[in-house]
Amino acid sequence: MPTISVQDLKKSYGHIQALKGVSFDVEEGEIFGVVGPDGAGKSTLFNILTTLLLPDSGTATVLGRNLFKEYLEIRKSIGYLPGTFSLYPDLTVEENLIFFATMYQSSIRENMSIIKPIWQQLMPFKKRPAGKLSGGMKQKLALCCALIHKPTLLFLDEPTTGVDPVSRKEFWEILGTIKTQGITVVVSTPYMDEATLCDRIALLQEGDFIRMDTPANIISSFKGELVTLRTDDIFKLLRKMADCTLNCTFYPYGENLHVIFYDPIATVLPAFEEFLQQNDIVYDNLSQIAPTIEDCFIEVASKK
Ligand code: ADP
Repeated sequence: MPTISVQDLKKSYGHIQALKGVSFDVEEGEIFGVVGPDGAGKSTLFNILTTLLLPDSGTATVLGRNLFKEYLEIRKSIGYLPGTFSLYPDLTVEENLIFFATMYQSSIRENMSIIKPIWQQLMPFKKRPAGKLSGGMKQKLALCCALIHKPTLLFLDEPTTGVDPVSRKEFWEILGTIKTQGITVVVSTPYMDEATLCDRIALLQEGDFIRMDTPANIISSFKGELVTLRTDDIFKLLRKMADCTLNCTFYPYGENLHVIFYDPIATVLPAFEEFLQQNDIVYDNLSQIAPTIEDCFIEVASKK
């Protein structure tokens, strides 16, 4: 039996359709990622699955229990790190952990083995108010608090948003160790690079799943020929690209421009270079490259 099974979940806020009917299963022991930009519907989905919000329609089971009828039992077995700051800023690091352990009638000593690698990093700051921790440390403490009652299923809503790159990497290493303890993890992120660290991902856009698969399968099913190039004036290039008649999708990617062509590269590339020259674009490093998850997201989303 899947750990989570969701059928046709819908939720609107007035005229905004936050979820348009999502269906999916999460298997025991996997890290399942919900990947999408701001406003895609990630928090709405997480709030429903953690029993904090009712959908308009749809059915779901979590840990084999009916999400709407057996929510009290579900709450005891899940951990949730919400997207908004979830700690008590005036309580110290240690007091926050004690508070959450007490609330769940759990014992810190009994469950220390689950959080030990993270807790050790927090130990030097244990007397510091949680509100005075760095972004990365705050999220590590929030993770300890979400884990201290030893949940079998952990929901993490954008745990690394606003966290520096080194702490983000450490955070994902921690998720890897959590998985080895048999805890199923459902995590949302707007960072496409983090998607590759999940076992399976669902790409969420405007309340709909546009793809769901392993990161490797999503990358290998990329349809198109991806080209990158660098220019000193990306804004000029973007303006000119609006007039490009080749069958393509283009978008800025860091300092570069990425272009997905839908025709064979051998014929399209000379025509593209001619287009660049005709429009006086100074460019370098024009080359065909392998797509990332972000490119795949744009490729699928652009077809909608
Ligand atoms: P994400 O977590 O991916 O940023 P959300 O689930 O927070 O997405 O939001 C999905 C959509 O629903 C957005 O358009 C957002 O503005 C809207 N929304 C979310 N919560 C509310 C609310 N309480 N009232 C009105 N609109 C909301």
